[in-house]
Amino acid sequence: VGCGICIKKCPFGAIDIITLPVELDNPTHRYGKNGFALYGLPIPVEGKVSGILGPNGIGKSTSVAILSGQLKPNLGEEEEIEGTWDRILKQYAGTELFDYIKAVAERGVKVAVKPQYIDGIPKVFQGRVEDLLRRTDETGRLDHYIRELSLSSILNKNIDTLSGGELQRVAFAACLSREADFYFLDEITPFLDIYQRMATARMIRELAAIRPIMIVEHDLAILDLLADTVHVGYGKPAVFGVITRPKGVRVGINQYLEGYLHEENVRFRKNQVVFETRSHMKTIERETLLTIPSMKKTYPGFSLTIEGGDIRKGEVLGLVGANGIGKSTFAKLLAGVEEPDSGSDAVQPGIKVSYKPQYIRAGSDATVEELLRSATRRFDTSYYQHEIIEPLVLEPILQSPADTLSGGELQRVAIALCLSQDADLYILDEPSAHLDVEQRMNAVSVMKHFAEGKEVGILVIDHDMYSIDMLSERLLVFEGEPGSRGAAYGPFRMQDGMNRFLANLGITFRRDKTGRPRINKLGSFLDRDQKSRGEYYYAT
Ligand code: ADP
Ligand code: ADP
Ligand code: MG
Repeated sequence: VGCGICIKKCPFGAIDIITLPVELDNPTHRYGKNGFALYGLPIPVEGKVSGILGPNGIGKSTSVAILSGQLKPNLGEEEEIEGTWDRILKQYAGTELFDYIKAVAERGVKVAVKPQYIDGIPKVFQGRVEDLLRRTDETGRLDHYIRELSLSSILNKNIDTLSGGELQRVAFAACLSREADFYFLDEITPFLDIYQRMATARMIRELAAIRPIMIVEHDLAILDLLADTVHVGYGKPAVFGVITRPKGVRVGINQYLEGYLHEENVRFRKNQVVFETRSHMKTIERETLLTIPSMKKTYPGFSLTIEGGDIRKGEVLGLVGANGIGKSTFAKLLAGVEEPDSGSDAVQPGIKVSYKPQYIRAGSDATVEELLRSATRRFDTSYYQHEIIEPLVLEPILQSPADTLSGGELQRVAIALCLSQDADLYILDEPSAHLDVEQRMNAVSVMKHFAEGKEVGILVIDHDMYSIDMLSERLLVFEGEPGSRGAAYGPFRMQDGMNRFLANLGITFRRDKTGRPRINKLGSFLDRDQKSRGEYYYAT
């Protein structure tokens, strides 16, 4: 199927590792005899932001435990051996990592960590946001972060009442205001909109001037903007992981998307990920699935206006806009969870809607397989296995109770559950949250195949520009004043929609040699030039 994502074959085979280097020397660390083995280490470097790009379960947290001195690397030996640090130091002689390892070996270092999953925070900390933040402010930088992240309006709230996006910004501010030798941020973007992603990126760059920063991030447009170098991580999750030496950020991301590491001569994925502008240029004839009526919805302090529009059979309609602008409210109106103030009913006769909310939680200890079987009668069909189970890599977790899943696993299950319903319109609110890059690409092709194959409509709300670009055929743009009023415009053709959305944001993208979009530096020649021509995303 020519879905525009892959050039050779359908990326459903993307999870296979094709070739690995034969001559991996000793691991840096192995957990027990047959335990997970980590090869290589990422390097915190003075004055730089180092990114780690790779799937979950390949040793990122293990690396941080080593770098912080909490875990003494055993070089794969089973017995406790003498002089480990000396042997390690010898391995790294003459490299950038040497001074750092020496500091760890001699005196230990302090790391401030922003954990990947923030939903655990309310369990360990009860109380007001301000009380939590004041405790972490070891550097006096907190007030700066409160301003830049617009946190002042939530300082009096209790931690357990925050939305995911608010909690993410609080966790971020708490980490950055600590005094540490280096800072490790394990995903910053889930639940943040683009303005907020750019704001966190700016603050990380500021701090990098005085302290090394390491970051794991799967929103590639943001990682590209933020990191100086990237270490690519690959391997077989839970079995072994290899962390490469640092690569320049543009080259590292491109090699990652290509699935081939040039310096290492390693191919770790069959297919390339490519950005196709052409597929957005052609118009596809599609029948109307439903007409969105013009309507209004008011809450105390917030009002949403919908002009109207249509959703077509077989299309994925992207939905973009700031947090607090009314995207989820719109989804709830279409899903019939909420009713509009006036005007016709948003729910159309004969149109069934399946809805995946933004914040998902496991409500039961039923296994994944039990949940899926109760949502669909097609579980055993080869269609379901090939189009849902395999690409979303659900096989390994089918027997896991839902309430034991990690955030990324839960997201994949929630996407599958949403698509398992019999419906005409599927609405997915931030399906990319907590998925790694491979999983995002796979989720994109699952949704595209599903819409095309079943002639249904899919509406996707997301802030990851690369995912929105690859996924959407048309775009609905939300504008207004977050938290007080919002309005929907469109649906537009991708080119017009992206230009309109990015013009509101004041962000332009250029294309590199491979066609990958990269955010322009604000006020740079290209930024000014493209703005003057109104070409924010697509050059014509
Ligand atoms: P990532 O941060 O990339 O998701 P981790 O470093 O947390 O990966 O874990 C990599 C692998 O190491 C996982 O499969 C995990 O099961 C295993 N692992 C992590 N900690 C331990 C430990 N203390 N003992 C044994 N295995 C562990
Ligand atoms: P988005 O999905 O774009 O982030 P939402 O639709 O969730 O935005 O929210 C838009 C605004 O409406 C926010 O200011 C939010 O606080 C407010 N809001 C949402 N749901 C309710 C509700 N049930 N009662 C009162 N206000 C609400
Ligand atoms: Mg929302």
